[in-house]
Amino acid sequence: MNGPRGIPFVVSAPSGTGKTTVCRAVVERDGQVEFSISHTTRPRRQGEEDGVHYYFVSAEAFAETVAAGGFVEHAEYAGNQYGTSWASIDGPLAAGRDLLLEVEVQGARQLRSRRDDARLVFLLPPSWEALESRLRGRGTDSEDAIGKRLETAHVELAAVHQFDYAIVNEDAAEATDALLAIIHAERSGSTGEVRERFDRARVVEGLKGILPIPGRS
Ligand code: 5GP
Repeated sequence: MNGPRGIPFVVSAPSGTGKTTVCRAVVERDGQVEFSISHTTRPRRQGEEDGVHYYFVSAEAFAETVAAGGFVEHAEYAGNQYGTSWASIDGPLAAGRDLLLEVEVQGARQLRSRRDDARLVFLLPPSWEALESRLRGRGTDSEDAIGKRLETAHVELAAVHQFDYAIVNEDAAEATDALLAIIHAERSGSTGEVRERFDRARVVEGLKGILPIPGRS
């Protein structure tokens, strides 16, 4: 195939930032971008379909794929394994379709170092209070579990420094527009304006004192 290749857009955010809502809205609004389907060992939740939301596999099958070098990135998160297979991204990218890879931060780091074509976007909550109240608002987790997620969120926030772009998700519709603007700019090759608007250093600076983002390590 000789057309332009698709671009893998990697999106990460601390749990409770509203990443899934924004990513779904982007895929709905832009017919040229689709979700990459990950493999996971976590149990299927109600409403999830194998081969649609994830490929749900056993720990043994996952380990075999790791050993065979079948994953472009993989990581453990909350006791389960998650990974993006080469097979799941090669076809769409070669066919010129852009991909949205919704991964946690360790996976994003691996993609950063293994794929020159990856564009990394970090979604930030507007404040620590907003993150806390979103996590509590789900009403599904115990105080203990919420505490653990907040601890993890603190570590995850530090990863923002390795991303190309940062978007503050104060309002899901605006964050969706922002992510679409980045995708369209990268696709057209003229990224000057979005690079400035969503420059991570600038966005992080703007959140100083509002969100506890650890410095560069
Ligand atoms: P959940 O279990 O809630 O669907 O996902 C838990 C976390 O794993 C989320 O941060 C999600 O973005 C991340 N995740 C989903 N798929 C992958 C993947 O293929 N690789 C990595 N590294 N993380 C993933």
